[in-house]
Amino acid sequence: MGKFSLGNKRPLIIAGPCSAETKEQTIETAMQLARSGRVDVIRAGVWKPRTQPGTFEGIGEPGLQWLCEVKQATGLPIAVEVANRSHVELALKYGVDLLWIGARTTVSPFAVQEIAESLHDNHDVAILIKNPMTPDIDLWSGAVNRLINEGVPRENIGLIHRGFSYFGHSKYRNPPMWHMIFEMRSRFPDMVMICDPSHICGCRPLLYGIAQQAADLCYDGLIIESHICPDKAWSDASQQVTPDDCISMIDNVMWRAKTTEDPEFTSELNVCRQKIDQIDSELFELLSERMRTSDKIGEIKKASNVAILQSNRWDEICRRMLSMTREMGLSEEFVSSILETIHMESISRQNEIMNK
Ligand code: PEP
Ligand code: MN
Repeated sequence: MGKFSLGNKRPLIIAGPCSAETKEQTIETAMQLARSGRVDVIRAGVWKPRTQPGTFEGIGEPGLQWLCEVKQATGLPIAVEVANRSHVELALKYGVDLLWIGARTTVSPFAVQEIAESLHDNHDVAILIKNPMTPDIDLWSGAVNRLINEGVPRENIGLIHRGFSYFGHSKYRNPPMWHMIFEMRSRFPDMVMICDPSHICGCRPLLYGIAQQAADLCYDGLIIESHICPDKAWSDASQQVTPDDCISMIDNVMWRAKTTEDPEFTSELNVCRQKIDQIDSELFELLSERMRTSDKIGEIKKASNVAILQSNRWDEICRRMLSMTREMGLSEEFVSSILETIHMESISRQNEIMNK
């Protein structure tokens, strides 16, 4: 098999168990996935960074041997997670084609630096960097820059969006926070971006929706956890799917072209874009006028020495706008968040006026 290159195929589909557990489970899962012809790379973790001690922390080196057998039997490239120099050295010794840095490792500059340095003599291997656990784009892009600074060619580096750890209630295990990804994409526009619905969702029913959304947002591929017997998996059981379910999900995802030269498409799009530009200008002119009006209110309150926050008035604004916008097809969540942002800005301007 020739050298594996990122970016050769879109969508790039990576699938396999969260962890290599036994030789039979690893090989059987991979064989079933490979037989479909829909999977490009087989994944399996052999070193598992677990939240709790005493849970399964990975099979270690024997798992690399099983993955070698997977590669021979299926002809597909293999991928594992690495978190330090010795992982990198062992993975390369066993001919692993694609490495990835896990979310718990991306948060650690020492670990990322060690991995970057251990790749110094192996610039050929492709490596994917998962987003850090926390929604911190600088930390993620810092990890990319550490690899680049050690001489890893940009085309051998890719990104995985696996969602962000979140303190609070969410239907996702790691909410996707798509806007974070838009920022990362504008920092590294040519870098392959893969979506990891398994770790975003943490459960099976939501997987397809996230995979389709990634396809709609022009991602370059997916990494999905699959296990011959998901309920019995030793890690991440609730999000793993059988190879059959994995394949039918992949088959159902509709991928969109990155762009098109079609003149009708371009001219229709341009009309809408001009309209959007015009609306945005008007929106911000109005917002500026609103702020100037609220400055005036600040002066009036100051003159009479009245407190800035008038809860009744704020409640009245929310009630009025929510009932008005309901008929406009705007969601309550959207309207509330905009009102809150406007209100915070007004308060901070009035605060400045009061204390001038
Ligand atoms: C994994 O891919 O199995 C894994 C540990 O993922 P993450 O680093 O995204 O938690
Ligand atoms: Mn996992």
